[in-house]
Amino acid sequence: MTARHKAIETISNHRVAATQNYLEHAGEDIYGQYVFHEGVQRDYLPKPIFRRLRRVIDGLEPFAPEIADAVAHGIKEWAMAHGATHYTHWFVPMTGSTAEKHDSFLSPISDGATVAEFSGKNLMQGEPDASSFPSGGIRATFEARGYTAWDVTSPIFLQVEPNGVTLTIPTAYVSFTGEALDHKIPMLRSQEALGKQALRILRWFGNTAATRVFTNIGPEQEYFLVDRRLAEQRPDLLLTGRTLFGAQPPKGQELEDQYFGPIRERILAFMMDLDRELWRLGIPSKTRHNEVAPGQFEMAPVYEPTSVGSDHNMVVMQTMRRLAPQHGLAFLIHEKPFAGINGSGKHNNWSMSTDLGENLLDPGTDPHANAQFLAFLIAVIRAVDVHAGILRASIADAGQDHRLGANEAPPAIMSIFLGSQLEDVIAQIEQGAASGSKKGGHVALGVTSLPVLARDATDRNRTSPFAFTGNKFEFRAVGSSAPIYWPQTVLNTAVADSLSRLADDLETLKPGDFDGLTAILSGVVKQHSRVLFEGNGYSSEWHQEAARRGLPNNRTTVDALPALATDEAKAVFSKFGVLSERELDARVDIFWERYVKVQNIEANTALDIAKTMILPATAVYLGQLASAGYSRGVKSVADKVASLADDLVDAIHTLEHAQHAAHNAGSVQAEARQFVDVVIPAQNALRVVADELETLVSDELWPMPKYRELLFQY
Ligand code: ADP
Ligand code: MG
Repeated sequence: MTARHKAIETISNHRVAATQNYLEHAGEDIYGQYVFHEGVQRDYLPKPIFRRLRRVIDGLEPFAPEIADAVAHGIKEWAMAHGATHYTHWFVPMTGSTAEKHDSFLSPISDGATVAEFSGKNLMQGEPDASSFPSGGIRATFEARGYTAWDVTSPIFLQVEPNGVTLTIPTAYVSFTGEALDHKIPMLRSQEALGKQALRILRWFGNTAATRVFTNIGPEQEYFLVDRRLAEQRPDLLLTGRTLFGAQPPKGQELEDQYFGPIRERILAFMMDLDRELWRLGIPSKTRHNEVAPGQFEMAPVYEPTSVGSDHNMVVMQTMRRLAPQHGLAFLIHEKPFAGINGSGKHNNWSMSTDLGENLLDPGTDPHANAQFLAFLIAVIRAVDVHAGILRASIADAGQDHRLGANEAPPAIMSIFLGSQLEDVIAQIEQGAASGSKKGGHVALGVTSLPVLARDATDRNRTSPFAFTGNKFEFRAVGSSAPIYWPQTVLNTAVADSLSRLADDLETLKPGDFDGLTAILSGVVKQHSRVLFEGNGYSSEWHQEAARRGLPNNRTTVDALPALATDEAKAVFSKFGVLSERELDARVDIFWERYVKVQNIEANTALDIAKTMILPATAVYLGQLASAGYSRGVKSVADKVASLADDLVDAIHTLEHAQHAAHNAGSVQAEARQFVDVVIPAQNALRVVADELETLVSDELWPMPKYRELLFQY
């Protein structure tokens, strides 16, 4: 029996193990169990310390070092009561994965015993010897060490595993010269920038009560699960997260029987464990369902402030990765694990709200609220048009190149879908000022006659990268594996810029001058309505139409990244204090490097599989055919297989040469371009030959689990 067949036999005998006492874990009673939330803060901290910490968390005062020791003591007591022996500063370096180094509380004392220690300093600041994280040159030049600083806005939590518990402190990672070495700091800065500009607009509308504006994030997370015993027989899945080979199975997603279908027992068991674990971590997991492709699923939490929700999404992905093996499953977060069926995205639902709970993207119910809503909406429209290049770049990644623009995911063209009712309103605003008069049939634009907008929850467009859905935008083009921080940073910065221009204009008007407001909004719409598109984003007509409109269409990462190196990009990030020129350069360098490294790993893996697995299996099969005798049919198959074997060897050599040539391209950008133009096509050509062999070589001999097994065998 081959390893494949053994795996399948085990899978057939897999029985879901019931979770003990699941009725006791139904939600409320476990929610936030692993979080140092307000309730436990009250229990574990002296009252005055508790009150001051709450003010810090609410952004009302800076963290005062003199309360640090008392806070740390309370946290330690709480963590140890839950069995914690270690603590860690948890952060998101520019690798895009989370990082953690654990330290025990243990501290030896003179008589050979130990005590548990955790000081204010331990809580507030860590200094990981983190010389191996990419810094894009920031740390090399300044010889600055990096340190981690507690991010009070994100809740402290426990990582509880079968053999122990670790106290986990979300931190920001920064160089001693104050430069951001992580993805989180720029995101926090971008929130602040957006908030400041949004408040200017609110003040013009007469809102004097709000003191802060921040963004919310509700990330819908798509992912695949396949049987682990099968996945582990695929070096490509193991090393690259996607299949580099694999013939199309006789059945794919064409019957559309997976989407929202009944959830298999084994998958549901995973999802149930996942939900319980997320609830314990204070992550409001809400929705679970089967997605379009076989083996594909989705979870969505209730939205949260972006500073919390983006950390939570990292924990969600990590928890999925950790729990899957407990169910004999492998977790695939890649944007395109399988050719020929849908890939995975992360739909970032995004809105802006005030500290008093007003959602600035909610149409509201009276004309005044509508006017304010339209001002924010139109500012977002301008942001997406003006900053389409950096927004596209913010979601660029090797994995995304397989997904964006394919017939399953939004195109690489940034456009906005509003829904018919709003689109109509916007069109009339555009015309209104054009004619300078308020003709019949057009909406009169004075505040007294702005239409009351009903929330239109039914209008949906799955093909748009950026869709308005009632009271929020859904940034649908984000990749499934992407940390939320970077796309949100870019979006917030783009919107901050747009709001600041609008505020500049409004501040020249008297408050309450709604005709003036209308003229300004009308002008903005006229200039930027080209970014609005209601039709089918998957269609080739849209690609032509977008080109006519002059909208950028950067198909690959290599086409997209240069937008981050322009003077405009540098200006906007530095104007709003989100990223200095050096910090931006550092990130762009890292993105290029990462792209080339990923492509090299994929090419290496493809070559390895082709040479050591597929070619040998083909040769054995040829031998079998040769000894099978003189049948005309068998001979013709043997000829075909022999000729494909030759093609395979040729394709291997072509890929090797292409990869080698790319290494000598000079710069990382030139190497990346060669990958797009030459290496990836060579790798695809190799795949075509290998996949055809898969359809001919004896199933017994085929060295890797096939698509039909990965996608349908649970
Ligand atoms: P839809 O079907 O319109 O996509 P859902 O109710 O399924 O809406 O919500 C999808 C995600 O959007 C969820 O994570 C939800 O919490 C989030 N969401 C809802 N309202 C907002 C909002 N105002 N801001 C940000 N996210 C939101
Ligand atoms: Mg949605």
